[in-house]
Amino acid sequence: SQATAGTTVGSATHCPYCALQCGMYVAKGEITPREDIPANAGGLCQKGWTAAELLTSPERLTTPLLHGSPVSWDEALDYVAARIEAIRAAHGPDAVAVFGGGGLTNEKAYQLGKFARVALRTSQIDYNGRFCMSSAAAAVNRAFGMDRGLPFPITDIARADAVLFAGGNVAETMPPFVRHLSAMRSGGGRLVVVDPRVTQTAKTADLHLQVTPGTDLALALGLLHIAIADGYADLDYLAARTTGFEEVRTSVSAWWPERVERVTGVPVAQMREAVRILGEAERAMVLTGRGAEQHAKGTDTVTAFVNLALTLGLPGREGSGYGCVTGQGNGQGGREHGQKADQLPGYRKIDDPAARAHVAAVWGIDPADLPGPGRSAYELLDALGTPGGPRALLLFGSNPVVSAPRAGHVARRLDALDLLVVSDFVLSETAAMADVVLPTTQWAEEAGTMTNLEGRVLLRRQAAAPPPDARSDLEILRGLAERLGCGEKFPADPRTVFDELRRASAGGVADYSGITYERIAAETGVFWPCPETADDPHPGTPRPFLDRFATPDGRARLVPVEHRPPAEDVDEEFPLYLTSGRVLAHYQSGAQTRRIRPLTKASPEVFVELHPDLAERLGVATGDRVRVRSRRGAAEGVARVNASIRPDTLFMPFHWEGVNLLTNPALDPTSRMPEFKVCAAAIERCAED
Ligand code: SF4
Repeated sequence: SQATAGTTVGSATHCPYCALQCGMYVAKGEITPREDIPANAGGLCQKGWTAAELLTSPERLTTPLLHGSPVSWDEALDYVAARIEAIRAAHGPDAVAVFGGGGLTNEKAYQLGKFARVALRTSQIDYNGRFCMSSAAAAVNRAFGMDRGLPFPITDIARADAVLFAGGNVAETMPPFVRHLSAMRSGGGRLVVVDPRVTQTAKTADLHLQVTPGTDLALALGLLHIAIADGYADLDYLAARTTGFEEVRTSVSAWWPERVERVTGVPVAQMREAVRILGEAERAMVLTGRGAEQHAKGTDTVTAFVNLALTLGLPGREGSGYGCVTGQGNGQGGREHGQKADQLPGYRKIDDPAARAHVAAVWGIDPADLPGPGRSAYELLDALGTPGGPRALLLFGSNPVVSAPRAGHVARRLDALDLLVVSDFVLSETAAMADVVLPTTQWAEEAGTMTNLEGRVLLRRQAAAPPPDARSDLEILRGLAERLGCGEKFPADPRTVFDELRRASAGGVADYSGITYERIAAETGVFWPCPETADDPHPGTPRPFLDRFATPDGRARLVPVEHRPPAEDVDEEFPLYLTSGRVLAHYQSGAQTRRIRPLTKASPEVFVELHPDLAERLGVATGDRVRVRSRRGAAEGVARVNASIRPDTLFMPFHWEGVNLLTNPALDPTSRMPEFKVCAAAIERCAED
């Protein structure tokens, strides 16, 4: 949708939701899309158009809650600090854990990581981005030496002649993205989509590979096998810019097309056509989303797609490449500044002595006092309240009771804590369990930076006044730090925090040192890496791999990987695959969008999508209530009978308590990503009352 002429234009900011970070003006409760931000260029989806309702929601938290009762900020923060001190004294610093979110601004993500390591001295910090794009991050760090979602401006997509998109449904998750694919197709380009469902995105594709859930890796190996056999390998590029091709060529030789068809269900002719489309294109892109990544073999799956892109000679060439389409609002920036268990600001590794020394110097502490790596997100949640596990959890910008795998178990672990503190602006399902709830300011009520899916650092300006008694997360961290004896290290002003973040990131992979609020405003965003320079300002890096990759030898690495079945395959008791995803009207756990009237009207409840053949066998019609079971629990929903899904597969959206009661927390060995996208399930019609 385009802005209408004459609409009131207020402060320029960005959408509260997804990684596209569409630019918008917010004034007097009205939202107007910005034309100057290339990601959306005047477009918004219905989530963005209705986001102002969040600012006036009657469900807005306006006062701290202690065991459900309103208290003053001093009472709340005094209580939290005293409990932290007592728990630390009894059980040690790792008894207090922190859980962050991929929607937090860069400043908050940075400050949260610092707060954990400096104020709490705990190693136990991770965030919900671990559940989002960690497999893609691990794969591209291995291949390219750097993880930047799209290592090219989003507008490059329009210049491609072909795009293969595995496991992404942008027509529903981030509709303005579609305009870039449409521009590509208007110029004669072709779109290939890999998905177990005929999604809205798949419907627009020139070719849809309807893969069996959990077999994307086998499909990528098959595509690579065909690409090599049919003469599409770019041998000059491979010799000049990569290492490892011979090992990969050998490893995929066993994945002949007929074998891949048996594993994936994708016909050989379709695979050959997909390879032809990519191989004959002068400029082509391979993109992945959560559908390919949220698996216990997600890192290897993405690696296989990266191997395909490298074999075709795409990454590091203008108008071509591999990219991960990040999901959460600050999914990119949220993973760069130190709220991950194994990382420090600047996308540095926490076990690297030089990185520890640099960050410790910025923080004014001894490197020896910096804790080491802690547990990954699910492992952290799983350890809460267990012997040797954390006894207290401070949670910011996340709702794991809905969004974590095996969510019923996670709720029981949260229940076993001595102290649960949740900072949020609505009473999410997780906040409803908390001992202390701290009411925060939200997106348009505060300033800060976000890094969108292109690696473009953007500025959110304050466009609305917060309720009088809400505080920003930065103010909350400062208030707690003061009570823990180190308040001076935790400024609450976002610009001051950003200036420190710049110094902490200097020299790291994600170098923000040359980026300022003024530059972001003047240039409508700056791409990292952007080091500070003595003379001319560094221009930022829209396409970081044009000359060399970020590996020590400057070459991209192809890494041989092998397909294996899902961690939990179907059997007699649980004969169906269950997969999950998003719908147009909602975002993530739904804590925000379920409180917006037009969005709940558009999509009011959890549903279960199933194929007509399966529905007929069960005697189920659209609108009937059905119960889906897995080895971890059961969840009910309204049946939607739909031929767009495979007969062996069920789909449930994850915006309500439901599907994650069923999902499998089997973890990828490298990224520690849970296997959200496939588990074994059974379905039955609910008995009528
Ligand atoms: Fe744009 Fe995403 Fe917001 Fe929709 S939800 S308006 S696609 S940033």
